[in-house]
Amino acid sequence: MRYFFFAARSLETIFGAPDMCKGKCKCWPCAARDKPPQDAATTPMWLAASEASSLSYEEVAQRLEVDVLKGLTWQEATQRRQFSGYNEFKVSVEDPPWKKYLEQFQNPLILLLLASAVVSGAMKQLDDAVSITIAIVIVVTVAFVQEYRSEKSLQELTKLVPPSCHCLREGTPDSFLARELVPGDIVILEIGDRVPADLRLFDAVDLLIDESSFTGETEPSRKNTDSVLRPNGAHSSNTNIAFMGTLVRSGNGKGIVVSTGTNSEFGSVFKMMLEEKAPKTPLQKSMDSLGAQLSMYSFAIIAVIMLIGWWQGKVLLEMFQIGVSLAVAAIPEGLPIVVTVTLALGVMRMAKRKAIVKKLPTVETLGCVNVICSDKTGTITRNEMTATVLVTSDGYIAELTGAGYNDHGQVLLHKCDDPEAARESVAKLLEVGAVANNAVIANEVLMGQPTEGALLAAAMKHGMYNVADRYVRLQEYPFSSEQKTMTVRCVPKYDPDKREVYFTKGAMERILPKCTAYSVNGTVQPITEQKRAEFVAEAHEIGRKGLRVIALAKGPALLTELVYMGIVGICDPPRPMVREAINMLSEAGVQVKMVTGDAVDTAVAIAQMIGLQTSQANVLSGEQLDAFSEPELDAAVPHATVFYRVSPKNKLSIVKALQRNGYIVGMTGDGVNDGVALKKADIGIAMGKNGTDVCKEAADMILVDDDFYTIIAAIEEGKSIFHNIRNFVGFQLSTSIAALALIALATLMDIPTPLNAMQILWINIIMDGPPAQSLGVEPVSEDIVKQKSRNTKEPMITRKLIVNVLLSATFIVAGTLWVFNREMSSEGITARDTTMTFTCFVFFDMWNALSYRSQTKGVFQIGLFSNTFFLVAVGLSVLGQLLVVYVPPLQSVFQTEALTAWDMAFLTALTSSVWVFSELKKLFERLLEKRCRGKKTPLEYV
Ligand code: ADP
Ligand code: MG
Repeated sequence: MRYFFFAARSLETIFGAPDMCKGKCKCWPCAARDKPPQDAATTPMWLAASEASSLSYEEVAQRLEVDVLKGLTWQEATQRRQFSGYNEFKVSVEDPPWKKYLEQFQNPLILLLLASAVVSGAMKQLDDAVSITIAIVIVVTVAFVQEYRSEKSLQELTKLVPPSCHCLREGTPDSFLARELVPGDIVILEIGDRVPADLRLFDAVDLLIDESSFTGETEPSRKNTDSVLRPNGAHSSNTNIAFMGTLVRSGNGKGIVVSTGTNSEFGSVFKMMLEEKAPKTPLQKSMDSLGAQLSMYSFAIIAVIMLIGWWQGKVLLEMFQIGVSLAVAAIPEGLPIVVTVTLALGVMRMAKRKAIVKKLPTVETLGCVNVICSDKTGTITRNEMTATVLVTSDGYIAELTGAGYNDHGQVLLHKCDDPEAARESVAKLLEVGAVANNAVIANEVLMGQPTEGALLAAAMKHGMYNVADRYVRLQEYPFSSEQKTMTVRCVPKYDPDKREVYFTKGAMERILPKCTAYSVNGTVQPITEQKRAEFVAEAHEIGRKGLRVIALAKGPALLTELVYMGIVGICDPPRPMVREAINMLSEAGVQVKMVTGDAVDTAVAIAQMIGLQTSQANVLSGEQLDAFSEPELDAAVPHATVFYRVSPKNKLSIVKALQRNGYIVGMTGDGVNDGVALKKADIGIAMGKNGTDVCKEAADMILVDDDFYTIIAAIEEGKSIFHNIRNFVGFQLSTSIAALALIALATLMDIPTPLNAMQILWINIIMDGPPAQSLGVEPVSEDIVKQKSRNTKEPMITRKLIVNVLLSATFIVAGTLWVFNREMSSEGITARDTTMTFTCFVFFDMWNALSYRSQTKGVFQIGLFSNTFFLVAVGLSVLGQLLVVYVPPLQSVFQTEALTAWDMAFLTALTSSVWVFSELKKLFERLLEKRCRGKKTPLEYV
């Protein structure tokens, strides 16, 4: 056990005393330091969970010097943090960059190259040795930079969803990042929260915490506040401790932070989890296997080339160097890295568009999703609820004006004979809504559920402020998506008899059956069947306007003998752009289904507003889903577009039914119980603003602002990332194949080798480096978004891509060989000949990169300047090539010679042919497609 005293002392010797207090004040660390040593030893900086659990919470509070009703002050918290550090886990100390740089040399090919440089040196060919060494350094540096970048961007990913917490400071609850917590803080836990640090609970109401991530125990453990007396306990008996990283399944509670960060009980477990390498995505795996295959072929070809060359009597060392550089060039060892960087950059772009993807594989799946099941409330609608109409049980109707969570607005009574009585009835109705309510409105800002905020605002508009204060709440039966009601049991403060009253609100079909009477002008009358039908009809009418209907009732003693008070209709309009988004998705073949806990009328009305099919066959209820057998579900669910009165359990059966039908499903969720469905869905989507931590934990993606439109942005990015990866894989493959084929053909034809080792290595840099990477950040283009979702089974490398790769490689090889042959025929082989050939190959490659920006569209259609990174990368590569050709020291490294302007112009014109050809091919394909619209084009049969 570490104690504050020692920690403070040792930190002090390192950093000096904290700045703000010069050791003279009475602040927490200073006071503790001023105490005599034996006293300081009893003032630990934190407590181990096992120790805290055996103490009473008062003792814990005393040891950590905190008032549980007020919490710490902000200043104190800041001071404590100097000693406790942030509440987070530092990922293990990384290798320094130089070490990583040196690791790059462990590549066997690089070692072989180095060996050949050494051999050259030994054979007194010093310039060769130096050249190869320089080339190796450049290759290694490029590889290092790429890999370093990929690691850095992967690290960034983990920072995208910082957990937050609810904490009491200076007497007021606040929410901020969990990393800011210090020992002694008072944390408030609610259903769905993730426990932000190890807590000694001092308040627990029905608190069930899921500790499965640590103990493997699937049954959540029940927590209380009693101290556990036991010398050294196992975790299972720590019933008064909430452990960091566990999830609140139900109930609520409060606790004192006893330890944070790595000091927390499961800090070590967390550290292990962080160190675990992220699993590879299917795409990364297939890139790895592609790389392995290519290596095998390349090695075989290179071996043959070297054997033939040797047999032809070429210098062995030179053949060896060319062979090895060819291996370095042809093997796209950069491919997996470029893929990773592209995926990670895509995830960053998505984050900018408010969609946070938690794991890389999700990006790939996004392009395959073909059905999205979305929550209505908050995702399709704004979740800004306003009560707009109410009907009291005695038939008075009122409209409410105004918007937002405030009292700006009026309650306008519909024409009635007795306005006084009407106002009285309305007040009685609104009272129920305001008492059975947990929301707080302060300065027009709502804290709590929007539905409850709307009811509170309605009461405020009727001049009723703080009605709830007239009662003492004895118990709450909280709202759940299954029950669809919320009830409180109270006693009136000023009633001498202290008679208990229940106030309840919720879905009509849950409230009305429990009512045996209804209120008429202050008196209570039994409900007749006819009255019941009337009330139900009123609810339907309001629901049909797209309003959420909340029924309100109260009762003296029993929850089954309530007095019906009336209904309130709450408006929650669809978000802007949802209609357009649904249209766009359906054009791309993605179905949208709306899932809601609301009643059928409300659901259908909103569905119509956003353009979903709502004929009878398209609408299913949670009850129907419950009753269906598996085959019935499989038959009905794919055709339905609206699911109403669903429970979280229903969501799971919807996902399963769709998946059995072969769909790739995206499902949204916000509640604690949605976690299972989100996990099961191919893409689980959690709400960032109103979602619970449980949900975010289970999800693959988080919508920062809960907006449906964001899902489209994510799908767009997902599709275009895949598209881009396909493009640069094509580009890299065609360069690889061209380089291999060029040398192989030259050897077979028994002519001198057109490129030397250094030149091949240079080509490798261009191929693996910036130009390839820049193809990965090609901006999203409209037609890709409209493309049908990709079949999950479709391979990355399609036949069409192979044909394109072979065509462009053929062009490059033929052109380069022609130039080489032309130059060579003049007078033997000179430096000029290889420079021309070398530059020709590089320029071919640049034009080739240009045509790989899109598989279908011409460069001018996508915009020559639309990808700045590409222009920069190609510009730099061309500049590099010019330096290599014109700068003397580099000339000697690469064995080049200055070319004339005419040479350059000639090469540029010649090499553009590869691009012109691909433009023409794309144009032809587009025309063909227009002709055969809808049908398969002849080319697709290739
Ligand atoms: P959704 O799935 O659309 O978010 P909810 O599960 O939030 O739907 O709500 C379903 C139904 O539960 C609503 O139609 C309403 O009748 C009732 N309801 C919603 N919120 C509350 C609440 N805070 N208190 C009582 N009843 C509620
Ligand atoms: Mg809801």
